[in-house]
Amino acid sequence: MSLKITNVETILLRVPLRQRTITDSQSTVDEVEFLQVVLRTDGGIVGCGMNWSYTTGLRAAQVMVDENYAPLLVGTDAFLRKETMRKLFFSNHFVGRVGAARVGLAAVEFALWDIACKAAGVPLWKHLGACRTKVKAYSTDGGWLTWSVDDLVRDANALVARGFDAVKIKLGRPDPREDLARIAAVRKSVGPKIDIMTDVNCAWRLPTAIQWGARLAEHDVHWLEEPMWPEDVKAHAELARSITTPVAVGETIYTKEAFRDYIESGGARIVQADATKLAGIDEWLQVAALADCHGLPVVPHTNVQQKLHVQLAAATPNAILVENCYESIQDIWKEPIQVVDGHYPLPQEPGVGLELTQETIDRCRIG
Ligand SMILES: [Mg+2]
Repeated sequence: MSLKITNVETILLRVPLRQRTITDSQSTVDEVEFLQVVLRTDGGIVGCGMNWSYTTGLRAAQVMVDENYAPLLVGTDAFLRKETMRKLFFSNHFVGRVGAARVGLAAVEFALWDIACKAAGVPLWKHLGACRTKVKAYSTDGGWLTWSVDDLVRDANALVARGFDAVKIKLGRPDPREDLARIAAVRKSVGPKIDIMTDVNCAWRLPTAIQWGARLAEHDVHWLEEPMWPEDVKAHAELARSITTPVAVGETIYTKEAFRDYIESGGARIVQADATKLAGIDEWLQVAALADCHGLPVVPHTNVQQKLHVQLAAATPNAILVENCYESIQDIWKEPIQVVDGHYPLPQEPGVGLELTQETIDRCRIG
């Protein structure tokens, strides 16, 4: 059996969030761009992939798919995914080993996986082979940097009341004393049994990270995420040797080789690999296996792509937890999944699960 790709379509969208504006140390987010890639085959199976960004500029990835990848994809067998991905990568690597080229590449890769899963008649987690039937969630849909302490505490308690036992708080206020006071207030209110994660979104430099990162242990913080500029592996390794709170990185690491360097340096204790930032599912699985070889857990970074990462986690023994975020727009997906009692159910429809609803496309399409 082969399935030849007959047509490639790309759709660019800008989706407004329906929740209070999101703020961290680098960004203010009130809308998210999406690139939907649709691959049609001669056997009638249609594969859907996507990528996303809360910064503008996803149109560049659309150009990569339309002008570089589409002509190479048409006529190829959708089951030759790894060979096809190698060809696509080398077609334009001078203009983007990472960045827009890789973002477009991942969207295509998801569509190729979608075809494989639909041909098998199963969702991705069944296609991979599962090790669990539901996946634990932690909440990032709160804890924003510009919220008042009262809002932070109220929101954390509301999440606990919903069944979450793990919540994330953003750090990176101009004065780190404020960061510490905010964590202290949340810890005091939610008690000792709730995991509190923290996320600096790369705002600190090494002296700040060592001095204030060390103080997080006073409040039993579960991990310290992206404390510094992600290219600086050495600084993360030095920080990880200096403090007891585990250092988490991954949402802005774009290649398996960069993960290897982090893991071998000791600069990553929690591996937050994101298949939409890597070149797709195959590379994510390689990173997860690499982490497993070093005894490290994987906690996929995810903003909008929970359905993808929940399925990957369900099939990956060391992927222990998946982020929950941007709940207000989860209904953009066909057959969305939502956290129940602190856990994600697994999707049941065949495929990877990255197909946007027609209503979302009609309402939000920009190109
Ligand atoms: Mg983060």
